[in-house]
Amino acid sequence: MITTSKSVSNFFADIPVPDDAFLRQCIHCGFCLSSCPTYALTAREISSPRGRIRMIKNIANGKTSVDEIFMHEMFFCLDCRACETACPPGVQYGALVEAARAQVEHVRALQPGGSSPLKNFLLGRIFMQPARLRRAAKLLRFYQRSGLEKLALALRLPRLLGKRMMALAPMAPRIEPAFTFDKLPEKVSPSDGKIEHRVALLVGCVQDVAFASVNEDTAAVLVKNGCEVLAPRAQVCCGSLHGHTGDLANAKILAKKNIEVFEALAVDAIIVNAAGCGSFMKTYGHLFADDPAMQARAEKFAGRVKDISEYLTEIGFKKPQPVLTKRATYHDACHLVHGQKISQQPREIVRALAGENYVELHEASWCCGSAGIYNLTHFETSLQLLERKMKNIQASGAKVVVSGNPGCAIQLQHGGRRFGVPIEVMHPATLLRQAYDAAKK
Ligand code: SF4
Ligand code: SF4
Repeated sequence: MITTSKSVSNFFADIPVPDDAFLRQCIHCGFCLSSCPTYALTAREISSPRGRIRMIKNIANGKTSVDEIFMHEMFFCLDCRACETACPPGVQYGALVEAARAQVEHVRALQPGGSSPLKNFLLGRIFMQPARLRRAAKLLRFYQRSGLEKLALALRLPRLLGKRMMALAPMAPRIEPAFTFDKLPEKVSPSDGKIEHRVALLVGCVQDVAFASVNEDTAAVLVKNGCEVLAPRAQVCCGSLHGHTGDLANAKILAKKNIEVFEALAVDAIIVNAAGCGSFMKTYGHLFADDPAMQARAEKFAGRVKDISEYLTEIGFKKPQPVLTKRATYHDACHLVHGQKISQQPREIVRALAGENYVELHEASWCCGSAGIYNLTHFETSLQLLERKMKNIQASGAKVVVSGNPGCAIQLQHGGRRFGVPIEVMHPATLLRQAYDAAKK
């Protein structure tokens, strides 16, 4: 039994509590069940959105306590939010599970050996400071490019750290030769001097070191469409990795810093090219429910956040001639399609560039198993989801898969190698930039 500071609820009152208004919205209709990947895998009610909401409600009402089953289920959930899309009354399941995870992490921290030291080190130390993350990424880059990685894998050295580490080792993101700020100036303007829009760019954390070229491509396509692009140096990780895994305290610190940095800029929009980051930043207001002044600033900030595909279609992007000669398809990142309800805008870009080579992907919005760090924490389940995704990609005949999230890109690239499906994974901004460059020749 957990001691709580509230008389009725068995949740801790001094850390975020699942919102009672959202809990009451659920009418237990079950419309969400068929859209839930973990329910599809297990056919267990407790692994469904409805079952999880019922568990959260029971703890909130003091009927049960945070126990091992609850702790397991809150993290077995992918937080993919497919259930939100399917839910008729619009229960905000993502906000519920993220608050529930914060409660679980609090309980774990009180148990001896309860919380993961590696996760605490990475999220609590490395991802809190961009300079630390870049130093760590440089070490990883040296390991990957010096031949040490090949040697270690050939000698199966990661196995010394456990069987799972051997399986996870090939999934490490490939660190790029240069990071975003090595390549992208703090301000980039259209070469003809005609500035129609002014935007700021979030460069992200993993995106900054493993997909810096996507950031560069994003800035290039914005400039091509009449935008002046600001890339402020003081920005930090958006905090979504923290928020989605129950570390709301550090998520708040990062959110506050970004709000301070970006609100000082006179821009029309804050552009994000990673679905998980955009989805989280659009709900920064939830983080400050206990601080009305900060919440108002967070909501104003969130109102300016736009996914790159959302913004480009809003301003009517220049459509070049189709450039893709191979069959191409689009995979919906969960936090773009379910978290931000954005599905047509990226398709508009891919269709424009693929022309007749575009093919729709069966189950395009079914999670690929990446889900933040889920592919590391729940490797086997993640692989089952990845296998399903790769079978669908193979059946589509696509050789190019376009997706707007770094986690999905890493997962799909891994899926291609693991299941022998030869594909190239591209971000919509990269594809668009290539088309603009091809049109110049
Ligand atoms: S979450 Fe929505 S769809 Fe699922 S049972 Fe509750 S009300 Fe119905
Ligand atoms: S977020 Fe995804 S995995 Fe979790 S309950 Fe909803 S549909 Fe299922």
